[in-house]
Amino acid sequence: MSTKAFPNCTVVDHPLVKHKLTQMRKTDTSTASFRALLKEISLLLAYEACRDLKVTTEEIQTPLAKMQAPVLDGKKLVLIGIMRAGAGIVDGMLQLVPSARVGHIGLYRDPKTLQPVEYFYKVPQDLSDRDVILCDPMLATGNSAVAALTKVKTSRPASLRFVCLLACPEGLATLREQHPDVPVVTAAVDERLNDHGYILPGLGDAGDRLFGTK
Ligand code: URA
Repeated sequence: MSTKAFPNCTVVDHPLVKHKLTQMRKTDTSTASFRALLKEISLLLAYEACRDLKVTTEEIQTPLAKMQAPVLDGKKLVLIGIMRAGAGIVDGMLQLVPSARVGHIGLYRDPKTLQPVEYFYKVPQDLSDRDVILCDPMLATGNSAVAALTKVKTSRPASLRFVCLLACPEGLATLREQHPDVPVVTAAVDERLNDHGYILPGLGDAGDRLFGTK
């Protein structure tokens, strides 16, 4: 389902996704359960994010006959996680596309300018021939996603998508302004951001909940 206000955003409107997300939101969900649920939901988000990947055909032999059968076209997909919680989404998506290549981007927020500053970037060399999916669980202010997409675009990937677990209108608006060409796939669009840049009602700090750091 795409929303009217954000036509480039697909909300994966599926009972299993809704149920799993509700379990993740609960304060008393353990780190182990949160991690497992993120992995499960991310597989389902990957299914939607890969919907329009190009396919070609190859001749195969079944036990009964030869046929022209569809296969994914082009080089292996690239999944790039925004550190640190993006790793949780990448992990889940790899269950569905195990041969995907993986990249990482690290950004921190400069305390003076409040702008994201890159501190780590390692991606496959030949991004220009590949479809890329950038992953981060929370699309909050959108500043990190914008900076990461801008960086990835310098390598001119064949296509670029953004996958998150939760989005909010503020983050989606920022992304639509800065990267209107990038499709977004998410499990839900929540109400709003609070004054500290957290999504409401949200699920708290995705990194802390995923890694058990608080
Ligand atoms: N990052 C998080 O982990 N949670 C939010 O609600 C917003 C940004």
